[in-house]
This record gives sequence, C-alpha cells and structure tokens, in this order.
Amino acid sequence: MEKVALVTGASRGIGREIAKSLAKQNIKVIANYNNSEEKAIELKKELEAEGIEIDIVKADVSKREEIKKLVKYAIENYEKIDILINNAGISEYKLFTDETDEDWNKVINTNLYSAFAVSQEVIPNMIKNKNGCIINISSVWGMVGASMEVLYSVSKAGIDGLTKALAKELGPSNIRVNAIAPGIVDTDMCKNFSKEELENIKEEIPLEKIGKVEDISKCINWLINDNYTTGQIISINGGWIIT
Ligand code: NAP
Repeated sequence: MEKVALVTGASRGIGREIAKSLAKQNIKVIANYNNSEEKAIELKKELEAEGIEIDIVKADVSKREEIKKLVKYAIENYEKIDILINNAGISEYKLFTDETDEDWNKVINTNLYSAFAVSQEVIPNMIKNKNGCIINISSVWGMVGASMEVLYSVSKAGIDGLTKALAKELGPSNIRVNAIAPGIVDTDMCKNFSKEELENIKEEIPLEKIGKVEDISKCINWLINDNYTTGQIISINGGWIIT
C-alpha cells in the first residue's frame, strides 16, 4: 500500500517543495495551506500536468478545531498517515521590548503549538499502525538564538525540545521523530532581506551560498527512508552554524 504524507504549510516555499518531492515518489500527499489558496491550486495543477495527484486542504494549523478537521479528513480518505511534516511557520523581526502578547500568541501558536497539536491528532493513527515518521521544520535560531527574532527563536527551540522528548516517548511504537533546522533558504520568508543583506549573509556561510528548497527536501527524502534515526536535529545550513 502506498505511503501517505501530511505536509503543513505546503502552498509556498519549503513545504511546497517537500510536498512536490514526496508526491513524485508515489506517496499520497495531503498538502495543507492556509491563506495562499491560489498557490495551492497552482501546485495541484502543476503536478496533475505530470500525471501526479495531490490533495490540497485548507486549515489554519494554529487552531485546534481546524487541525482536527484536517486530520479527520486525511484519515477518513486515506486510512492512515505514515509521514507528518510539521512545516508551517512564520517569522517576525522586532525588538524584544516591542513584542506584545498578541505577537507571542501568533508566533508560538503558528510555529510551535501547530506541531504539538497536529502531532497529537495524528499520533494515535501512527501508534495503531506501529509505524510513523514525524519531521518538524525547526531553524538554526532554535539552536543559537537570533537578535530581533526572540519569539521565533523561542518557538524553534521549543520545536527542538518537542522533537527530542517525543522521539523517546514514541520510539517503542516504531515512530521516529526528527527535526530539520535550516540556515537560510531562498523563500518568501527571506524577502525582507535586501540584496546587500543577503550578500553579507552569504559571506558568513562557509559554502558561500544561500540554501535552496531542494536542499531541505533531499534531507526529508533520506529521513523518510531511514529506520534508525530518531530524536535528532539535523541542521542544513552550509556550515553557517556549526555546534
Ligand atoms: P514561506 O515561504 O513563508 O512559507 C510558509 C508556509 O507556511 C506557507 O505555505 C504558509 O501557507 C504556511 N503557513 C503559515 N502559517 C500557517 C498556518 N497558520 N496554517 C497553515 N499554514 C500556514 O516560509 P518557508 O521559508 O518555506 O518556511 C517553512 C518553514 O521553514 C517554517 O517553519 C520556517 O520557520 C522554516 N525555516 C525557514 C527558513 C528560511 O530561511 N526560509 C530558515 C529556517 C527555517 P499560506 O501562505 O497558505 O498561509
């Protein structure tokens, strides 16, 4: 039976490439989106043109009720979820002293609560099947922190803690939980950087280039086929951050 994958935040950027790459491997993909409906439809059509079916489902994964509907839909239609990619995320650049409770709720709910709640809804099905692979998309800032991105860094450090602890709890059920912590990847998330700022960042990176979405999906492809890696935070960053 074909594998089934749920990818959150798959309308754009890294999630979109992950969804595409999984679908091209004969995996049934449920690609979640929230605001970018047109982009999600475009992804579906792009794959259809290559003879590949993909399911696109709208849900705000910062909200439990919408997550419940998303996961219910997936299990009712595909019976199981073998692979969960918790990718949806937002960034925010602000001085810490300007951050509000609303900012905290928005960043933490979108980046961290989503991974907690989507995993919680999916895991009973994985336990029943004694099989699962969860990959959370973290960030180097979860490891080392970023100035002007304190809330984002907190959310990603939380993702790393969630990944490690959950890997221990779910290992006996044959569910592997890992995270990928990208450095900088060329997506809409980086469009606030000027050309000059991007050049400066490039100079700090030993491999002298900005990451591509494919650099992340290649690691996903390796992780989903592995069976002895769990609880790891795998950082793909061109050598920018070496811990
Ligand atoms: P992006 O291009 O801005 O895409 C973000 C995706 O997340 C979009 O598909 C968006 O969907 C979705 N999303 C946001 N809030 C959502 C919500 N409440 N419910 C459902 N989906 C939601 O960003 P990206 O660079 O691909 O980022 C993907 C992940 O990689 C994030 O977790 C990010 O923190 C992480 N990351 C990125 C970089 C980087 O340099 N790009 C570096 C490290 C880590 P809609 O547009 O449909 O709302």
